[in-house]
Amino acid sequence: MQAEIVTIGTELLLGEIVDTNSAWIARQLTTIGLDLHYTTTVGDNLERITYILRQALERADVVITTGGLGPTVDDMTREAVAAATERELVFSEELWEEISRFFARRRFRMTENNRRQAFLPEGALVIHNPVGTAPSFAVEYKGHVIISLPGVPHEMRYLMEHEVLPYLRKRFGLEGIIKSRTLHTCGIGESTIDSKIGDLMHLANPTVGTRAHPGQTDICITAKAGSLEEAEALIAPVEEELRRRLGDRIFGADEESLADVVCRALVAKGVHLAVLETSTQGELAKRLHAASQGVGGFLGGTIAPSAFTLERCFGVSSEVIAKAGFPSQELADCAARAVRQAYGAELGLAIIGPADLGVPNAPPAYFSLATENQVLQGQPFTGRTGPVAQGWLLHLALDLVRRYLLGLPI
Ligand code: ATP
Ligand code: MG
Repeated sequence: MQAEIVTIGTELLLGEIVDTNSAWIARQLTTIGLDLHYTTTVGDNLERITYILRQALERADVVITTGGLGPTVDDMTREAVAAATERELVFSEELWEEISRFFARRRFRMTENNRRQAFLPEGALVIHNPVGTAPSFAVEYKGHVIISLPGVPHEMRYLMEHEVLPYLRKRFGLEGIIKSRTLHTCGIGESTIDSKIGDLMHLANPTVGTRAHPGQTDICITAKAGSLEEAEALIAPVEEELRRRLGDRIFGADEESLADVVCRALVAKGVHLAVLETSTQGELAKRLHAASQGVGGFLGGTIAPSAFTLERCFGVSSEVIAKAGFPSQELADCAARAVRQAYGAELGLAIIGPADLGVPNAPPAYFSLATENQVLQGQPFTGRTGPVAQGWLLHLALDLVRRYLLGLPI
């Protein structure tokens, strides 16, 4: 079974917005075992959209489009689908009432333009859209099916999950499912992981693969099976083996972030963390704040663009700063203690490093965690250039807190 995606919108071609819809849909298609052969982006031009849809319908069993379903004249997907599938657009009274109700509930004013949205290619199957006004639809054409979804990502995702995937499964008798489990590691490089689990990467079902991010390597276990239970049963022993080999380097799975894990551990222990960061532009505090239990365990954070903030706001004297030097491990220790005390937190984490982290030959960044009776130090961070440097540093700093909270060797 082959699928093809067509994303519609001139702003995509101009690079004004990034086409995230295709990537998301592509991942969903793998879960139902549909192979994706082409993804095309086309502007808001009736002739060109129709041309691409005709081609796609010749090659693929399923064509999924996004965008161009709004009420304005540059929203041309309806017309193009009608032309490509050789039929007229017809007005749907039922759809018109549905759109009117949506507007009435929100007290929005409708315009004459909105009537455009109640026209659909003749014989189309309506996909009801409870999360927006752009009605979506599926059209059968010579054994192929074309499905048109809104461009707005959250509307498109809702309809894919709740309507389109179940429909495709049924329509094409797609019984198998693909289930993935992702384990997250940090503090261990991809090549070390490779040497520890390389043999498992030759398995056929489930397959095991790695994906590197700054400071984090993911291990993805993917099973193909007839049911979810079967897939989970295939994944479980491989996950167990991976956990046996990589131990506490695995910090979480699937949607969990390192900040989630840290905040959960803070809440479990009933302690609080405050942070001070010089090189990471607030990203450390942002991640902790956004974590699932961030509000419980994270007390707050300070962005300190320079050592001056330490002096002004945290009472670290200029002599101490001058003696320790900026950046330095000694100053990171001092800042960790100072932020712990200032926030009245059980734990204080400080990153003291250059503002231009990531430029070649930048000085190292230092990070320390102050507890009630000790200061733990991470390895001075250096040698990573470019935008990935920040991600690395954040992971290493958060991992220091995780390891302390979970009683793991540091
Ligand atoms: P609407 O009724 O909102 O106009 P629509 O189906 O006509 O729905 P578009 O007008 O094509 O959708 O796009 C609406 C918005 O959705 C765009 O401004 C953009 O922010 C977002 N969007 C559209 N296509 C994509 C895409 N391929 N990837 C990510 N975002 C997209
Ligand atoms: Mg639109």
